[in-house]
Amino acid sequence: MRLGGLEAGGTKMVLSVGDESGEIFAQTSFSTGKPEDTVPQMLKWFSVRNIEALGIGTFGPVDVNPESPTYGSILETPKLAWAHFDFLGAFKNGITDNETGEYIQGLKIPMKIDTDVNGSCLGEMTFGCAKGLDSVLYLTIGTGIGAGISIDGRLAHGMLHPEAGHISVLKHPDDKGESICPFHPNCLEGLASGPSIEKRWGKKAVMLTDNDEVWKIESFYIAQALVNYIYTVSPQKIILGGGVMHQQKLFPLIRKQVVEMLGGYIKTPELTDIDNYIVPNSLDDNQGILGAMQLGYEAAVAEGLVDDH
Ligand code: ADP
Ligand code: ZN
Repeated sequence: MRLGGLEAGGTKMVLSVGDESGEIFAQTSFSTGKPEDTVPQMLKWFSVRNIEALGIGTFGPVDVNPESPTYGSILETPKLAWAHFDFLGAFKNGITDNETGEYIQGLKIPMKIDTDVNGSCLGEMTFGCAKGLDSVLYLTIGTGIGAGISIDGRLAHGMLHPEAGHISVLKHPDDKGESICPFHPNCLEGLASGPSIEKRWGKKAVMLTDNDEVWKIESFYIAQALVNYIYTVSPQKIILGGGVMHQQKLFPLIRKQVVEMLGGYIKTPELTDIDNYIVPNSLDDNQGILGAMQLGYEAAVAEGLVDDH
């Protein structure tokens, strides 16, 4: 079936049309402005592409509880224009185009929304390196840090949704930098996101490839977080994505420290084969958009549009 997928980021919106086999027929992107400017553009793009269901993976925090009256709304966020915006509702019911004053009709099709990282986790579980597994953790390390988590085949939501990028970490004794997270003096995002690397070293992260000190400290923080995720979530695979993880050299450093920090406490075949346990994303950075389309597929299945068996 024809599925629409939207990966909604703070900088840009990526839109795709594809099908449940993971094929992508068309893709475009719009820069993220105010909702009343950006959403009409996206609705117009989808409305002429005959999609039968739509999935959205979005930046958060977002209400992902389908039973909630504010399901699909962005919650309190520093992106003020988006705070409390009914994102899913705008796609369902339509929105007035800020530029032309024209009312753009909503799409009367099944829809589902989740966090961008849960979307990426789902993409890897459906089409990528986590196919066949049901407990998986996807961590993105980019402008921010966030984790998508599946436990026993369900994307984790709970009270809100995981905010595992803000997990506390011990400061590296050689780290002269400070957390850039306005909320936490020692959280992972504050100490290990791309912008925090740039603040600490005064250069773009990509320009620091040859500085071993940078990656020693960076991998120390990521490894601590992974150890905590291993203890609490017990994922069968950990997938690391996002711009910072383009530094391939981080992988061996992280794996080595994870093993050391676990101290032999947990012994599983997965940890013995750590090169296949802590891995890069496998879908050419399409995991988010493929996961979003899969959310759309799940919405169609839930509404009886397709027989999943
Ligand atoms: P976003 O998180 O905004 O969706 P990315 O995942 O691309 O986007 O992350 C952007 C961050 O990743 C920036 O802070 C950037 O400096 C950093 N980054 C991008 N490419 C690299 C690279 N090759 N090496 C190290 N850091 C990188
Ligand atoms: Zn924080």
